[in-house]
Amino acid sequence: MLGGMNMRRLLPLFLIAPVFVLAGFGISKPGAGEKVRVLIIDGQNNHNWKDTTPFLKAQLEKTGRFEVAVATTPPRGAKPEDWAGFKPDFGACDVVLSNYNGPKWEPAAVREAFEKFLADGGGLVNVHAANNAHKGWDGFEKATGLLWRGNADGARLYLDQVGKVMRMEKGEGPGAGHGPQHEYLVKIRDGEHPITKGLPTEWLHTKDELYHGQRGPAEDMEILATALSAKDKRGTGVHEPMLWWIPVGKGKAVTNVLGHVGGGDVPHMPAMKCVGFLTLTARACEWAATGEVTIPVLDNFPTKDKVSLVE
Ligand code: ZN
Repeated sequence: MLGGMNMRRLLPLFLIAPVFVLAGFGISKPGAGEKVRVLIIDGQNNHNWKDTTPFLKAQLEKTGRFEVAVATTPPRGAKPEDWAGFKPDFGACDVVLSNYNGPKWEPAAVREAFEKFLADGGGLVNVHAANNAHKGWDGFEKATGLLWRGNADGARLYLDQVGKVMRMEKGEGPGAGHGPQHEYLVKIRDGEHPITKGLPTEWLHTKDELYHGQRGPAEDMEILATALSAKDKRGTGVHEPMLWWIPVGKGKAVTNVLGHVGGGDVPHMPAMKCVGFLTLTARACEWAATGEVTIPVLDNFPTKDKVSLVE
């Protein structure tokens, strides 16, 4: 069910009418002064989506660049008839922010509509466990590139000591995993990309999971940021991709695997409160929707020595 519909119902008709007119002519990019329309999709996740969706929505809206609607899937174990009412309106958004980790969206028409949305120029931004989702949905797996899958399920990319991207084919090496949560340095690998331009080359991310051994089709990926998966943190000893993007038709799919919530002795939601995580996520949404980034790097961005969290 579309939470965002409530908000739209309250808007005067003259404001919503152009949305539907434009939707009839395919995707029209928002300009610099117009809000980027984000649709967060949640409803299933082994992380607390009921807390993180309102938090992400508020943080995105705080930038002044976005208007955010929410579409919620039926709960885990839902039957086909429960999914029949799931009809996210991709025509009314510029970018989908997935906070969803569950089986493939149903019915198939939703998946087809989403693939068409991307092919026509729409954006996808996955955060954290969103890349664990949709096992067996080729369109999503191709757009996401690397996913939380076993080593038999696809290739793996990592960076060697001189920053060269290395490819390990399926069946070799580790599958997806992570060690205990800890603080770690995020290393920007392309400082000229609009999402990462102006960020410190290395900055300290707060306590979080560090995904390693992610698997998938791993085609056409540009890796924007990595982190060293340290052996003494039960990691792989190499730099693992943290942020990347893939062109999909005229659209763009960005995946940011930072942002675990819950578990262990970690206080509530710190990894999503990291100014670094939030800056990357907001800029990824803006860029995937418009091809440009206007959201600035704020003075409270983390440094190489100091983590930085929003209140
Ligand atoms: Zn997690």
